[in-house]
Amino acid sequence: MTRARTLDAALEARKADVKAGVSIPDVLELLTIDADPLTGGRGWVCDCPCCAEGRARVSADGRRFSCASCGASSDVIGFYQAARPAGFLQTIDDLHAALTTRGGRGDTETGSLF
Ligand SMILES: [Zn+2]
Repeated sequence: MTRARTLDAALEARKADVKAGVSIPDVLELLTIDADPLTGGRGWVCDCPCCAEGRARVSADGRRFSCASCGASSDVIGFYQAARPAGFLQTIDDLHAALTTRGGRGDTETGSLF
């Protein structure tokens, strides 16, 4: 089915936009989750969105998190899915909306595909 493949491509493009434009600290702010910055700009720590018992460590570039208690480790999409919680499609929608309403890149979501 060509249509399904087109939808998949659109979804992949939105996912790529989200991964490039939204960081875990952005999600922390979006969902008003408290986080403590580590000294020396080495990242952040916050309550783990997966187990709610451990503390999750967010990498300095804000792209990855990991939890030593439950072993969870993922990217911004995985973090949002666990923290909210939301399904994958909802996560992409929410984060893409946050990306475009924040401004600057809004014109990339519609219009030309190439
Ligand atoms: Zn955990």
